[in-house]
Amino acid sequence: MGHPAILMNKMSHHFIDHEYIEGLLEEAKQADNAAISRILDKAEHFEGLSHREIALLLVNDNPGHLDRIFAIAGDIKRRIYGNRIVMFAPLYVSDFCVNRCAYCSFNRGHDFDRRKLTMDEVREEVRILEEMGHKRLALETGEHDGECPIDYVLDCIKTIYDMKFKNGEIRRINVNIAATSTENYRRLKTAGIGTYILFQETYHEPTYVRIHQAGPKKDFAWHLTAFDRAQDAGIDDVGAGVLFGLADPYFEVLGLLIHNEHLEKKYGTGFHTISVPRICPAGGTDISGFAKPVDDAIFAKIVALIRIAVPYTGMILSTRENHDMRKKLLRVGISQLSAGSSTEVGGYAKRQRSEAASHSQFLVNDDRSALSIIAELMDDDYVPSFCTACYRSGRTGDRFMSLAKSGRIGDVCLPNALMTLCEYSMDYGDDAFREKAAALIEREIPNIADMEIRQRTTANVESLRLGGGRDFFV
Ligand code: SAM
Ligand code: SF4
Repeated sequence: MGHPAILMNKMSHHFIDHEYIEGLLEEAKQADNAAISRILDKAEHFEGLSHREIALLLVNDNPGHLDRIFAIAGDIKRRIYGNRIVMFAPLYVSDFCVNRCAYCSFNRGHDFDRRKLTMDEVREEVRILEEMGHKRLALETGEHDGECPIDYVLDCIKTIYDMKFKNGEIRRINVNIAATSTENYRRLKTAGIGTYILFQETYHEPTYVRIHQAGPKKDFAWHLTAFDRAQDAGIDDVGAGVLFGLADPYFEVLGLLIHNEHLEKKYGTGFHTISVPRICPAGGTDISGFAKPVDDAIFAKIVALIRIAVPYTGMILSTRENHDMRKKLLRVGISQLSAGSSTEVGGYAKRQRSEAASHSQFLVNDDRSALSIIAELMDDDYVPSFCTACYRSGRTGDRFMSLAKSGRIGDVCLPNALMTLCEYSMDYGDDAFREKAAALIEREIPNIADMEIRQRTTANVESLRLGGGRDFFV
């Protein structure tokens, strides 16, 4: 992977200033209750908070304030996202990797039989994912220019988008590949990707350098400026994250927010999504030597504070979290959930052949089937959504953000969630599931404020039930 010095010179990574962040966290400890209450009052307006304000909320643990933080986050979640939860699954296509990230099973020091999928194998994995009802995938690879060059990634994307099934197709491919050049981002943009996802892993540079021991990813600045290059290449939906458990989680939250503010200032839009992965055990690694586990209580507070800081940024939770934690975090901020995931190359086909996973990137903590996760979401009064409309209608970047901020998101996302859930129930559910979905849809349709859209949704749901069409969206 080349990263010409000239590019690096133009793109400073100095917006993350290690001493500044540590200073803020120290200073924030001095804040009095009145200052914290003022910030929480402001948070109730759903306009977001700056990283400076969040610093105060992070370090002060007065139980009364904590209750308010959860209440406000829950409120934001309900008012902006309603009870919709967008569903997706990861698709690992290559585990070749030249990097040595101490936490990851694909790190180059781990000796195992590596592989990448042939296009036929990609089709096989996608067929299985589609049979699970997924319409939105996150494509995942290790970093290896020789075995997994950008042309291979583009071939995978084309192969997947070209596939048509009885029940439709994969409608959105988000891509989670290593930091790359502006030119490669341009090619990904042309291929029609949804969000470009990249986790910073840690914003704490000394920790970053210690844990990323070899390969291009070792270069903190190259990794940190990846979204600048993606935005320069026209990718305006970028998805961030940190791997919680590497450095001080409060430092990480401020790093994330400062990164977001940097992109907002420079490009007019910040992160489209934020993922909140916590480190999990991974074969061929010993995380006990360096991992600093983030406990459940602090993790929940962090999720709630990110929700409050950036109310319009989607928040993604994976199967790294267990069933209980997923349930809890849905209430305070999470808006997208993966289900039925495998983190192994070729893992879905293996599972179908009843073979145990052997080369997963890390071990997941929620291994329930997609159908049972989705059914339980409905039992808990959530509307699982398979919507992919925004990016297909050109509502990306600041166009998506202005829709979200206008308060009209419910008029678009709710009908789309209901229509795609109806489609899912007809195509993948059994009778009991269909009945449950139908009752939920009946209950929710009156919540669509716009009369014309409400009527259109009712008609489309009817059509879906009678087999008269699919893939409806507004
Ligand atoms: N290889 C690319 C990269 O590292 O940027 C693409 C993403 S990699 C396939 C997906 C993500 O998995 C990484 O960014 C990392 O945060 C996460 N990951 C790796 N090892 C993990 C572990 N042991 N527990 C939880 N997440 C892990
Ligand atoms: Fe490779 Fe990504 Fe794993 Fe690092 S996290 S070893 S870059 S696959």
